[in-house]
Amino acid sequence: MAIALHSDVEELREELIALRRDLHRHPELAFAERRTAALVAERLRSWGFAVQAGVARTGVIGVLDMGGPGKTLMLRADMDALPIHETPGRPYGSTNQGAMHACGHDAHVAVALTTAGLLAKHRSQLRGRLKVVFQPAEEIVAGAKLMLEEGLMDTLPPDRVLGFHCWPTLAAGKVGVHPGYMWAAVDQVKLLVRGVGAHGGTPHLGADPLLAGAHIVVALQSLFSREISTFQPALFTQGIFRAGSLYNIIPAEAEIWGSCRNFDPQVRDFMHRRIREIAEGVAATFRCTATMELGHGSPALWNDPDATADVQEAASQAVGAGNVVDIGQSAVGDDMAYFLQKAPGCYFLLGVGNPQQGIDASLHSPQFDIDESALPVAAETLAGAAIAYLGQP
Ligand SMILES: [Zn+2]
Ligand SMILES: [Zn+2]
Repeated sequence: MAIALHSDVEELREELIALRRDLHRHPELAFAERRTAALVAERLRSWGFAVQAGVARTGVIGVLDMGGPGKTLMLRADMDALPIHETPGRPYGSTNQGAMHACGHDAHVAVALTTAGLLAKHRSQLRGRLKVVFQPAEEIVAGAKLMLEEGLMDTLPPDRVLGFHCWPTLAAGKVGVHPGYMWAAVDQVKLLVRGVGAHGGTPHLGADPLLAGAHIVVALQSLFSREISTFQPALFTQGIFRAGSLYNIIPAEAEIWGSCRNFDPQVRDFMHRRIREIAEGVAATFRCTATMELGHGSPALWNDPDATADVQEAASQAVGAGNVVDIGQSAVGDDMAYFLQKAPGCYFLLGVGNPQQGIDASLHSPQFDIDESALPVAAETLAGAAIAYLGQP
């Protein structure tokens, strides 16, 4: 008997929305997702999942073995909130002062958990293994990596990994997919320029790191017009330039912090090397020195074309093919990319925006919210893609 997925999800609609609101009221920061993890673990156990809690400190893994020689499918949801003061006024607003689900991870958890329950209900019609992973600390790019270090993919390695992220610039009722590289590798670069401090009236007696730093800021942008192919997406956003404490003194040091983003691993290595070389060279020109500290973030996120086609099909069943769009590439990052490096899979984007209802704030904004009609769409897409993969022939 075929699974009547649409009506199954419709029956769960109110419960799903209530769960998301409950999670939204109780946001927890990276590695402090204790209430969320306990709620997740308890529900998974009640549905017959073998549950491992405390993975990567606050992460939860649930495994449901349907038997047979089938595949292992991993569903991933990130659980953490952000250190943001939510704009007040919503009945389901944050009750945890200074923390907010401003990236939609409350929706990710609610949907993944609801989907796990739905799949458990239909376990007799599935085979293989379902591994649901509730990951901590995505926002500080730490949780996925730590789960892998603790052996997430060593025992019961998944054949496929699925997950999704809320996407406010896409309208609720739509789903975005993109095969291949979808999101960027994001690394933090910190440049320290050292000179010799001096009186503002005698700059020739010092070496000005502020001037050197200003030239470095400009020179680094020439990477993209002269050293990297114009057909290769890459960027370096310099968000901090700090130097000096008084208007009439040549400072001894300047600091430049930037975010290095790209898709191709070779471009990633090239940028790291050239940013350092340009900073060192320009600093030397002005009798200063520059040193670079590199903070490796998550790699570029690769969507496997086969898995993406399956998600596209499942989403088409949920919202109609015309509402499933190729969302293209974005230079944002997510540590889901580590999981997708280990096993093929797909991260899809869930339209949650609704400008007519004033739901259009960007991710990480204190006004961020979702159109909750998107929640059943995500559950139906995720469950549909899972059933297509784990369903009996
Ligand atoms: Zn985020
Ligand atoms: Zn996020």
